[in-house]
Amino acid sequence: MSLTRRSILAAAPSAAAISALGAPAFAQSTPAPAAAAGAQQAPGFYRYKVGDIEVTAINDGFWARPLDAGFVKNAPLEEVQKAQEQYFLPTNVTPIPFTTSVLRTGGRLVLIDTGNGNSGAPTSGTWMTNFKAAGFDPAQVNTIIISHFHGDHINGMRLKDGTAVFPNAEVMVSAPEWGFWMDDGKMAAAPEGLKGNFNNARRVFGPMAKDVKQYESGKELAPGVTTVAAPGHTPGHSAYVVSSGNAKLILMSDTTNHPALFVRRPEWQAVFDMDGNQAVETRKKLLDMAASEKARVAFYHAPFPANGYIAKSGSGYEFVPAQWTPAI
Ligand SMILES: [Zn+2]
Repeated sequence: MSLTRRSILAAAPSAAAISALGAPAFAQSTPAPAAAAGAQQAPGFYRYKVGDIEVTAINDGFWARPLDAGFVKNAPLEEVQKAQEQYFLPTNVTPIPFTTSVLRTGGRLVLIDTGNGNSGAPTSGTWMTNFKAAGFDPAQVNTIIISHFHGDHINGMRLKDGTAVFPNAEVMVSAPEWGFWMDDGKMAAAPEGLKGNFNNARRVFGPMAKDVKQYESGKELAPGVTTVAAPGHTPGHSAYVVSSGNAKLILMSDTTNHPALFVRRPEWQAVFDMDGNQAVETRKKLLDMAASEKARVAFYHAPFPANGYIAKSGSGYEFVPAQWTPAI
């Protein structure tokens, strides 16, 4: 497209067109909005449809995790840095984004995971603002489905001071996940570095333990939402297939911690993958399913709005973001 044609297209619409849209007349002298200090990003939510089911991706910021040799357990640091560089990411930190999914299905409002609440990285904690900006109210949530018990997925349910955030929601968790983290024997036997996770699961779920519903893989948890076992990242880590009519979405949860690394190199094991080999097996299985079925996918940890498609590429895969569309 030539510059001339571009400038013609960019020319302001006629005054009649503007008033028909109800917009104020635009004078040449109107100052441009300030874009520097204090400028705010647009609210972090994005809606799309899977058949009759409405999905809203809600952004909860990110965590700039310092990149060290231990982050990918089975790859040299230089290779990991190179992969990030190829993705135009910094090489001293891995920016790990957080995105939850909210589903409207069968007249119910369903959350898949709840974000960091007020106990995550200083660059997260934006979930509630974005959730409300999307027009939702925590009191309207009917069901919360938890993929696994890491803090960035469960802390949004209960603030640091103990406040329960979703007063009317039933909470559903995977049975093997509950069986692992809520087992006192497993906690006693766990390495010191994992004890915080066990304690946090007790802090969040303890007060509601008798009401928590445990699910097995293969079960339909809400209309059109079926859980798929995805172990390795944690013992009961779960993914979900959302389907309506011919449309299908695979909610990958933490099947990868960043597409720049673990979609392109599915054999790489993140430090967060508790059983590295099992996580690789699960990752390959789910990525292959998404690629061969050409299903839409949503990740918990991918650049916002964290949804798109998976293409086979060499010995790995590529994450192809879905194109923005103003029509829902
Ligand atoms: Zn996570």
